[in-house]
Amino acid sequence: MNTTAKSGRVLVLGAGYGGLMAALRAADTAAVTLVDPSSDFTERVRGHELAAGGTRITHELAPLLRRKGVTHVAARATGIDLDSRTVRTDDGAEHPYDRLVYALGSRTRDPGGHDGRVFTPETATYLHKRLADGPGRLVVVGGGLTGIETAAELAERSGWRVGLTTAGEVGPSLSGKGRAHVRDVLGRLGVDLREGAEVTPADADTDVVVWTASMSPATELASRAGLTLGADGRIVVDEYLRSVSHPDVYAAGDAAAAWSPDAGALRMACATALPAGTRAGRNAAAELSGGRARPLRYRYQLQCLSLGRHDGLVQRVRGDDSPTDLVVRGRLAATVKEQIVLSTVRVLRMAAR
Ligand SMILES: Cc1cc2nc3c(=O)[nH]c(=O)nc-3n(C[C@H](O)[C@H](O)[C@H](O)COP(=O)(O)OP(=O)(O)OC[C@H]3O[C@@H](n4cnc5c(N)ncnc54)[C@H](O)[C@@H]3O)c2cc1C
Repeated sequence: MNTTAKSGRVLVLGAGYGGLMAALRAADTAAVTLVDPSSDFTERVRGHELAAGGTRITHELAPLLRRKGVTHVAARATGIDLDSRTVRTDDGAEHPYDRLVYALGSRTRDPGGHDGRVFTPETATYLHKRLADGPGRLVVVGGGLTGIETAAELAERSGWRVGLTTAGEVGPSLSGKGRAHVRDVLGRLGVDLREGAEVTPADADTDVVVWTASMSPATELASRAGLTLGADGRIVVDEYLRSVSHPDVYAAGDAAAAWSPDAGALRMACATALPAGTRAGRNAAAELSGGRARPLRYRYQLQCLSLGRHDGLVQRVRGDDSPTDLVVRGRLAATVKEQIVLSTVRVLRMAAR
């Protein structure tokens, strides 16, 4: 337990990559309360592994929070009162704060058509159970990085016949070389790849649909409270991660429209949620202890994806996330990707010390 005197109360909403990191960093100098209904941190980037193999992707929060003295409220935030600086939770409690960090993440955009065949990365546990009833035919919809990883993992491990359907081309953020490798590996894994085909869940003539097309920020509470949101629904923040409309509220992770001079507008990613969480947490606490807030500085370096357990792609990108021709493929790339995923939990454990 940290025994130094704490200056002010920081309340953090959401214990994902952004919120957990913000809480741990703010706790160096502030009294921190973290609100999340779950008693575990979920490695959301391993959702496809959970769906395919039932892999455990959670870590107990309590040991991560203990040493820094962060208080965990195991409840769902249901309302924010920006005037009285309080947050309500679904257990009926009210939580006052001096600074709020909003990090409620995102979820897959609702595709509609819930006829029991449609799953998303958020329902990976149920998908895993459903696949155990198989084998049958499934289609992953969405050719972004999440859709590619999901299709490859399921094709390799589930025993189902897997298709991947996407409105544009597969892996639009990748270089030509990177995309060619993805097509190659998906072909080798027997994935029926359809590019340039826009579908709804109802169109998909298959036993299971795994919808991965586009993420929606979880900013309903922010919107109801009156925080300014951008056209993409994320909380508009300045370079310090402070809400432009309510400077005692910070935002990080998928819910924030964070940006930095080198990278431009940051995309929703664990890779951006961790540094933004660090900065939001430190800045919120610094303001309360008379310290100086610092701007977020971030440059992209790599896009990494797993293509099943034995292949992958590491795509070198420029600071603004645009792809270069430099790629690493195959088993080495799979190892690099796994090490990067492991390092995210390692970084959180280090911050917890
Ligand atoms: C299958 C898959 C693979 C991915 N792979 C990668 C990858 O390789 N690299 C990468 O950079 N990104 C990847 N991503 C994206 C990455 O997972 C997200 O960008 C990241 O999780 C965002 O972090 P976050 O902290 O903003 O939100 P989250 O990790 O989603 O955490 C949000 C937290 O808020 C909590 N919460 C929600 N509502 C409430 C409420 N009302 N009250 C209290 N708590 C609440 C949730 O319980 C959760 O703990 C992947 C995503 C998926 C689905």
